[in-house]
Amino acid sequence: MNAPLRRNACPSLAAPMPTGDGLLARLSFVSGGLSPDNLALVAALAERHGNGLLEVTRRGSLQIRGLTAASAERLSADVAAAGLDIRTGTAIDASALSGLDPACAGDPRRLAERLGAALDRQGLSLRLAPKVSVVIDGGGCLTMDEVLADIRLVASANGWTVEVARCDGQSSAGRVLDEAEALGRAVALLRAIAGLGRTARAKNLPDACVSAVLGNFSRNRRPRAAGQPLDTFELRGGRSGVGIALPFGMAPSSSLSALASAARDEGIEEFRFAPGNALIAICRGSNGARKIRDAAERLGFVTDAGDPRRRIAVCAGAPACASGHVDAREVAAKLAAGDAVKNLAGRLHVSGCAKKCAEPSLFAYALVGRRDGAGIEDAGGREIGFVTGEDAAAGFERFLLARGVDADEGGRARLENGT
Ligand code: SF4
Repeated sequence: MNAPLRRNACPSLAAPMPTGDGLLARLSFVSGGLSPDNLALVAALAERHGNGLLEVTRRGSLQIRGLTAASAERLSADVAAAGLDIRTGTAIDASALSGLDPACAGDPRRLAERLGAALDRQGLSLRLAPKVSVVIDGGGCLTMDEVLADIRLVASANGWTVEVARCDGQSSAGRVLDEAEALGRAVALLRAIAGLGRTARAKNLPDACVSAVLGNFSRNRRPRAAGQPLDTFELRGGRSGVGIALPFGMAPSSSLSALASAARDEGIEEFRFAPGNALIAICRGSNGARKIRDAAERLGFVTDAGDPRRRIAVCAGAPACASGHVDAREVAAKLAAGDAVKNLAGRLHVSGCAKKCAEPSLFAYALVGRRDGAGIEDAGGREIGFVTGEDAAAGFERFLLARGVDADEGGRARLENGT
């Protein structure tokens, strides 16, 4: 692989990103979810065209790894032939349970479609930085406060509030608007970002520009308590939802095929992709939800929010990724089975190399592979320990046990705040 690895690129099916294990393509489905048959199909395509590893990201997007330039084209053709509608252009993430969650205000999915169409009409997706993203949060049982975004539209009983990310890590929020007005102002802000150049983000907008679009704005909206996806949900029309997470955000195609097969047996209607590396299985009644949850647990998926695997963010690592110096997933699995993670207040990050593809916004400590072993870093990225490659899991565990339970979570979010 000769193309450089880019930390700030954003992969799509049309423009997959080079990684240490080949090209990576991110798929966001226009409908927001996949039937069990289509989940099985996507898993089979990942096996046929990639290295058979699939990820559901922290934002709730599906990623296929290990593609080549030629196989990425064949994947794209097969996805189109199967009639799977893939969203292209600027990332717009809407609430996972749009249209199903009775507590979700507004219609986030419809607004996402309208916004995407407006950006396409104005050619803005091509002019915006690939990393620019929009979140459309209808609230309800799964809020999206933990999903970073340049522009955020947040629904309430009275309408929509448009928020803009600022360089101090806070956000500027305008007054509550009706849907059409909120849409227009979000487009105006995105046009202003595009006007600053191909690498600009919302945080680069001058305050004067933000106030010209939003009028008087307030700062620092207090995040709501984020609903977490590993739960059961009572949904509209007598439906139920149950959250299932991929262990460390990644699973082989065989596991997802088996999950799809179990879902067919239990009458699951669709899977929605949710922030937090999760799928929400949607079914009629609560019986099927319970059965698919049990099946997922048997297949090795995570179904309990307290599972220690939920506390460790991991990249593909060696041997799947040629850039990896440590087997990040094996290290993480050993850590999850040990005592240190159970006792630790904060989350951990295990990275196969210094690129830190899977770095979470908040973490207490990171283990980062390097040629001669692995460095242990604190939340600010300072190396405060070292272990050899063979001793990576046991050495990191010893370090954590010695540190005790009161680790401070910081990391990138804190750095971005300048604190
Ligand atoms: S961080 Fe992990 S997945 Fe990313 S290039 Fe390094 S080893 Fe590969």
